[in-house]
Amino acid sequence: MADVLEREMKSSSASVAEFDVVIVGAGISGIGSAYHLQTQCPDKTFVVLEAKPDIGGTWHTHRYPGVRSDSDLYTFGYRFKPWVGPPIATADEILKYLRNVVAENDLGRAIRFGTVITRCSWSSQENRWTIETRQADGSPGTTYRAKFLWMCQGYYDHENPYMPEWPGMADFKGPIIHAQKWDDKIDYTGKKVVVIGSGATAATVIPAMADKAAHVTMLQRSPTYFNCYPNRSELADRLRAIGVDEDTVHRCVRLDYLDQLKALDRRSREEPEQVFEDLKAMIRQYAGEDFQFEPHFTPSYRPWQQRLAFIPDGDMFERIREGKVSAVTDTIDHFTPTGIQLSSGQHLDADIVVAATGFRLLVMGGIAFEVDGKPVDWSRTPTYRGMMFAGVPNMLWVFGYFRAAWTLRVDLLGDFVCRLLQHMASRQAGEVRIEVPPSLADHELTPWIEDDNFNPGYLKRDLDKLPKRLGDLPEWRHSQDYWLESEDIPSINLDGEEFVYS
Ligand SMILES: Cc1cc2nc3c(=O)[nH]c(=O)nc-3n(C[C@H](O)[C@H](O)[C@H](O)COP(=O)(O)OP(=O)(O)OC[C@H]3O[C@@H](n4cnc5c(N)ncnc54)[C@H](O)[C@@H]3O)c2cc1C
Repeated sequence: MADVLEREMKSSSASVAEFDVVIVGAGISGIGSAYHLQTQCPDKTFVVLEAKPDIGGTWHTHRYPGVRSDSDLYTFGYRFKPWVGPPIATADEILKYLRNVVAENDLGRAIRFGTVITRCSWSSQENRWTIETRQADGSPGTTYRAKFLWMCQGYYDHENPYMPEWPGMADFKGPIIHAQKWDDKIDYTGKKVVVIGSGATAATVIPAMADKAAHVTMLQRSPTYFNCYPNRSELADRLRAIGVDEDTVHRCVRLDYLDQLKALDRRSREEPEQVFEDLKAMIRQYAGEDFQFEPHFTPSYRPWQQRLAFIPDGDMFERIREGKVSAVTDTIDHFTPTGIQLSSGQHLDADIVVAATGFRLLVMGGIAFEVDGKPVDWSRTPTYRGMMFAGVPNMLWVFGYFRAAWTLRVDLLGDFVCRLLQHMASRQAGEVRIEVPPSLADHELTPWIEDDNFNPGYLKRDLDKLPKRLGDLPEWRHSQDYWLESEDIPSINLDGEEFVYS
């Protein structure tokens, strides 16, 4: 790494720094991408620009009680760094894992914290991105120049969560807090809590608050599928017990989880009713044999059409059985000073309301993009495999998986970018531009993802802002299929007609 930094070329102006690659964001994608770049392309200079004062992205931003993954860390962790803890991990455990990756690979020296990117402009004459930044306190920042832009900024707004406006909110006497903006000063001991929402965040915060709160009510508009599992891998336990080293344990358990996920993904499409029966059987182990699924736990969509919320050790259902948690399916009519008046006429008493209402999609981190002086309208831009974009040179976005761990794609695209950079070097090309071949130009632009594929609220709300598929062409969409892509992406022909070099 010392070498890399020494080769960082400062231009004549002290506030312009020049690198081969700029990585945007120091979340799990940015750190993994930096690792791959440093390992596979040691001759490239790079910097990681991060708006926050620390690494972690999602796991830095979200601090609500109990915050944890809902993917197993054998697949949500990187291919190259063994996970040694229980499969489902807390935010602090994930941050510790990421800190270890940064320390072991000396990546910290490449990260510039408190650096908010505001504008990225590509010049085909110079074959360079100009990346304008400001400091987190609003003061002007360094301008960076780079030959390649590796976008690892995630897909949602870290500052402004999705908080609906309900009538009468100002009348409510207690705090209304969004989970993404959790305030540690809030004391919920002995309090009546209502959590609005029923996704992974609600399923995490509810059991975590139930221990201290008088009672927690989950208020949902519609039911969600939950997948309850013991938070341990029998395979990992067995392999460790017989002395298998951690690298091998990681590889084997990762393959095991991938196999289970693949089967669940396939079965959710082919036999959704049977999958639901299996999910119910798991829930009964924690909630009790006589648990009533109607009406609060019978979704109207098929499993995996929205993210399946994993509940390690069935903790939320155990709290339901103990009477500490209950569920209500209804809509909010208005807030009152003492709680929430529901459309059905029921009143929910509350001292504290937690909105687990999700996030706002933010395309490209809210950064303004220009190519040769022309603004990029992402909503009119076709995507090549959900990673590159027609007409936007030397740039790739790591958008992970919804139905498998996001990070699986970080490793896959890490290999791809490094291969692409090496290919450009061998062709002595300064620019690679994705272009829609003339034979495909008649295909209409279609939404980023099909409604019957995956349709959670945050995607539906802002789907129009995302780049577009080209008809239904497999190369011109994010397939959300890790198993397909793990074969396809490594074998992409970099001299195919979509790749135009100059
Ligand atoms: C509570 C929660 C739990 C989740 N659990 C899982 C899970 O278990 N499994 C799973 O697969 N997915 C999960 N996800 C989805 C999750 O966001 C991704 O899996 C993953 O963490 C995204 O990593 P990332 O590095 O791509 O983006 P992020 O974690 O969003 O990090 C992006 C980073 O880029 C920085 N950045 C953004 N814009 C700019 C800018 N303009 N200038 C400079 N820096 C910028 C941000 O500050 C941030 O640090 C979860 C999401 C949430 C909200």
